[in-house]
Amino acid sequence: MNLSKPTNNQPTPNNCQFCETELHHTFVDLGMSPPCESYRSLKQLNEVESFYPLHVYVCEKCFLVQLQEYISPENIFSDYAYFSSYSDSWLEHAKNYVDLVVETFQLNQESQVIEIASSDLICEKI
Ligand SMILES: [Zn+2]
Repeated sequence: MNLSKPTNNQPTPNNCQFCETELHHTFVDLGMSPPCESYRSLKQLNEVESFYPLHVYVCEKCFLVQLQEYISPENIFSDYAYFSSYSDSWLEHAKNYVDLVVETFQLNQESQVIEIASSDLICEKI
């Protein structure tokens, strides 16, 4: 797996971050956006803000849905204000979803349900 980081904001070849298959299928294309949770200081308000493609792909081999990495996680999460595990409404939604999955798939004490789709990880043991 190639986990090399892009440099000087140039996009890397558009390959799956998990299996390296070349990505061809758009999941959703939301245009251009500044990095989330990037607050501007008063001094920065008169400076150009960087925007990056918010083009989400799905891998045809492993079905991982993913964004291309234009900036490093360290640059995004070093001063990040939102973590989904701090959100009571999100935690309630996750709990309700786990309850639904437990009932639907008749899971038991030997089963584990994990939700990975956010800036941090929620793990619910039944
Ligand atoms: Zn893949």
